This record gives sequence, structure tokens and C-alpha cells, in this order.
Amino acid sequence: MTRQKTILVTGGAGFLGSFLCESLVADGHSVICLDNFHTGAREKIAHLMDEENFELVWHDVTVPVHADVDEIYNLACPASPVHYQSDPVKTVKTNVMGALNALELARHTQAKVFQASTSEIYGDPAVHPQDETYWGNVNSIGPRSCYDEGKRCAETLFYDYHRQYGLEIRVARIFNTYGPRMNADDGRVVSNFVLQALKNEPVTLYGNGMQTRSFCYVDDLIRGIRALMDHEPGVLHPVNLGNPVEFTMRGLADLVLELTGSRSELVFRPLPQDDPRQRRPDITRATEALGWQPEVPLRRGLEKVIDYFDGVLSRRPARVEV
Ligand code: NAD
Ligand code: UDP
Repeated sequence: MTRQKTILVTGGAGFLGSFLCESLVADGHSVICLDNFHTGAREKIAHLMDEENFELVWHDVTVPVHADVDEIYNLACPASPVHYQSDPVKTVKTNVMGALNALELARHTQAKVFQASTSEIYGDPAVHPQDETYWGNVNSIGPRSCYDEGKRCAETLFYDYHRQYGLEIRVARIFNTYGPRMNADDGRVVSNFVLQALKNEPVTLYGNGMQTRSFCYVDDLIRGIRALMDHEPGVLHPVNLGNPVEFTMRGLADLVLELTGSRSELVFRPLPQDDPRQRRPDITRATEALGWQPEVPLRRGLEKVIDYFDGVLSRRPARVEV
């Protein structure tokens, strides 16, 4: 039987954090969910509030935290460009000071600590697909830099704490992940396309729509994160977690239109600055070290997201015409 642990999840009221908390609570661990509700919401964890092994704490990770814990999952940080660019200075602080505070807590409690890093540390990659040995192609002064460079600095801190203080660390480089409980207003491509299609509004393709991403369903990702954290002896290198099946944004739009039966038309909008042209994880390391690979194909995952947003839209109060 696995030992029940006390586990801190920063950003636990966010999209990924809520699924992670759910999975840890289901396994009987004592979970402390720490969040400042910047992009998270109580509704995402409402179903856990009555569980006796779940506790919610309002806290900003830029401020040091004290708790007696066995493990820390550091997820706190807005993930969508719209949100992380709305207050870029705060995004850097959340990434860098949040990582420092998580690592200091780990140092004092001897906890194992996980960092939610990102494919963005590869920037607009000159190597395709991206494996973990690639150092990336990142603009240090652009509008995405607060996130990309913040996450890169957090990785640096994790490896320095490991070398300097012997901390037990895990670092996952997460590629685009989607699923129910994504924020409707975060401007990400999956939520935008699905909501636009469901409302029969124009589907907005940025640029010519030929840029690519690889989309991982949330259940697959959480399984990967848990496998990495639980793997003994620890995997010391960063590990890519994502679905290696690559789609153009045009292909994604066509699939969403097909699955929703929408009457929406496609419209083209300018490509945001520094938007990566292609992105696909090489997941050899995760497969070999953890025996992990994604199982949910995009079509099946999108059906779940469409059901989810359909429910969100039907619960919205009807607008009163005056
Ligand atoms: P999200 O925005 O839904 O969740 C982030 C959570 O962190 C929110 O609940 C937010 O309120 C909280 N938060 C933000 N700043 C905070 C602060 N200063 N103090 C305390 N809490 C704070 O995003 P997500 O998609 O769930 O992403 C979770 C993590 O995974 C992030 O670190 C993100 O960078 C990383 N990641 C996500 C993806 C993805 O596709 N979703 C891809 C790569 C990496
Ligand atoms: N995108 C798009 N239409 C939208 C939202 C996004 O064409 O309504 C594009 C965006 O330019 C990018 C891709 O979809 O090329 C993924 O964007 P997202 O913000 O979801 O993730 P990220 O760029 O961080 O990978």
C-alpha cells in the first residue's frame, strides 16, 4: 500500500491544478491547495471542498509559505498568453519568486518538489520535434518573455537547489494541454474555437493558420505528472509531457467545426508577435523512463471539451433585452 502523504499543490484551483488535486485526494493523500485565484476559481475545486483530506488556502506564491509537507507540486502561474501578458511583471515574480519559495519550503521540510515547466522554454524552436536536449530559441525581451524566461529561470533554480542543497526535484516540460475546466476567457485556441463554434460566431485563425501545436488531453497529462513525481529513483533530467500528434490550427478549426456541426465561418486575424510556428514534443524520455504515453486522441478529447462548454453556455443566464 502507498504511504499517505501531505502534499502542497500551488495553483491548485486552476485548470491543471484542480485535476491534480482531484487525483491526489482520490488516492487518500492530504492535499493543501494553495491559490490566489488570479486565473483559478472556486468552482473548479468545489467538488473537493467537502473531502476531509482537502484544504484550500488563499495565498500568493510570491510570499514565502510555511507548512509541514512531504511533497510540493508547483503549478501556480497563469498559462495563457492573454493572462500572463496582462501583468507581465507579476508573471515574472510568480515564476521566479514562486519557484524560490517552493524550493525554500522543500529545503526546510526535505520535501520532494515538482515544477510545472513548459514547452515555451523552447521558444520558436529551430529543432523539430523538440527533445529535452534542445536549449531553445527564446526572445528575452518580447511580449512572451515574462512567461518563457520566467519558466527558464525557475528551471535554473530547481537544478541549482538540487546541486547546491541536494533537493529531490522533478521538472516536467508541459506541452499544450486542454480539457474541461479550461477558462472560457483565456484566449487559448481550443477554448476560443470551441466557444466560437458553439455560438456560431466566426472562428478566429491567427496568421494563415498553418502554425502547429500538439494537444494533450488533461487526464493523460495528470497521469504523466504523477508518474514522474512517483518515479524512483528520481528522473533528474527535465521530461517533456505532451501528445506528439501535431495539428495545424487550420486543421484544428476544421475538426471543431465538424464535431460541433457549427455554421461558423473562418476569419483570419494577425499572428501575435513571437508566436511559435511549430511545436511537437519528442516524448522518448517519458516513454522510456516512465512507461508513459498519451492515450486520448484529439477527436475524443475535443468531444469532452465541447460537452463541457455546451454545459457552461446553457447555464449562462439569458440576456434580458430592453
Ligand atoms: P491556470 O491559469 O488555469 O492555473 C494557474 C493557477 O495558478 C490558477 O489557479 C491561478 O489562480 C494560480 N496562480 C497564478 N498566480 C498565482 C500566484 N502568484 N499565487 C498563487 N496562485 C497563483 O493554468 P493551467 O493551465 O492550469 O497551468 C498550470 C501550470 O502548468 C502553470 O504553471 C503553467 O505554466 C503550466 N503549463 C500549462 C500548460 C497548459 O497547456 N495548460 C502548458 C505548459 C505549462
Ligand atoms: N490561435 C488562433 N486563434 C485563436 C487563439 C489562438 O489561431 O483564437 C493560435 C495562436 O496564434 C497559436 C496557437 O493558436 O499559434 C496556440 O495558441 P494558444 O494561445 O492556445 O497557445 P500557445 O501559443 O501558448 O501555444
